[in-house]
Amino acid sequence: MKAHRLKKLAGVASLVLIGLTLLGVAAGPSLAARLGPLAAMPTGEVSATVETEPVPHGDDAADDAAIWAHPSDPSLSTIIGTDKRGGLAVYDLAGRELFYYADGKMNNVDLRYDFPLGSATVTLVGVTNTSANSLDFYRVEESDRSLTRVGSIAGSVPTVTGVCLYRSAASGRYYAFVSYASARMVAQYELGEAGGEVTGTLVRTLDVGGRTEGVVADDDLKRLYVSEEEVGNIWRYGAEPEDGAARTRVDGPILGSALARRQIAVALGGRIWPDVEGLAIYYAANQTGYLIASIQGSDTFHVYDRVDNSFVGAFRIVAGNGIDGVSHTDGIDVTSTPLGSSFPQGVFVAQDHVNDAGNQSFKLVPWQSIAGAFRPPLEIDTSVDPRR
Ligand code: CA
Ligand code: CA
Ligand code: CA
Repeated sequence: MKAHRLKKLAGVASLVLIGLTLLGVAAGPSLAARLGPLAAMPTGEVSATVETEPVPHGDDAADDAAIWAHPSDPSLSTIIGTDKRGGLAVYDLAGRELFYYADGKMNNVDLRYDFPLGSATVTLVGVTNTSANSLDFYRVEESDRSLTRVGSIAGSVPTVTGVCLYRSAASGRYYAFVSYASARMVAQYELGEAGGEVTGTLVRTLDVGGRTEGVVADDDLKRLYVSEEEVGNIWRYGAEPEDGAARTRVDGPILGSALARRQIAVALGGRIWPDVEGLAIYYAANQTGYLIASIQGSDTFHVYDRVDNSFVGAFRIVAGNGIDGVSHTDGIDVTSTPLGSSFPQGVFVAQDHVNDAGNQSFKLVPWQSIAGAFRPPLEIDTSVDPRR
């Protein structure tokens, strides 16, 4: 673009900005709370009760987490967290690092229970490894909560980014959805087993249109949700391999996508201040619950109804209990399963971009704190067995 056109554009942008400022609107993340649909959006505030030990690597390293519920002693449940500069960590519910596996640059992680592997059924953990451009699998050893490698499947194109696992309520089959940010694509693999190792067969690809990372699947409602991160869309697809490319937008950017990168505020009816990244599902009984999304531009988490995807509200994690607040979150996870005395009504886990001491960490918030921050309160339902 020629310099004078750039200058002209900058001039127009400044005028728009001045205009919006006169209307009581200012640029910056704090704007989100005062803009358009967000104006009426109450944002609850909660605090973490536990944070994990910092990840071994500095800068932007912690990324995504998965919660593993121990089958017989919930207090022995773990948080499996990625260090995208070099490995995969396992933390106990007090945040202590139990294990660290320097197996590659691990980006996103998800798990499913009761995966048939040889003569056993195991908790299967899937992790995107950007060092090898692969989806690596581990099983959780219930005896000591460690992880054991159980195979790997090669990425279809450069480079693996996000991952979620999916167990179909329709067929009982297991799948992995892998997002490829630069290819703007999500690929679905049907998972199998050969000689004690997990195998994957590509069954579908989806052209998302923009860079994507966060993905999550709803096993009961047979849905896949995808974050189109820079634009600020959350998309819903069918999760079955024959569901095709049809999709519905759950929410969109508060900014025009073209203007988003210039940080100029134009309310377009969506509620998302880009980027949108981590996605997670809170499972309650009768296939109800919530879809939760990490909204990086406003340092908030959006809560949507699990069934009709209507917007319920938002919350942010502020400093408290001696633990710093959470900002610019990448990956999240949530469980409605009681995890002992620390988290008797489930827990929400969020990566935190800036830790007040040391490298990045993951923050743990009791679900009842989040539920209680809403008016009316969100549902608390501990009846859903994740090993259904
Ligand atoms: Ca922080
Ligand atoms: Ca990320
Ligand atoms: Ca801290």
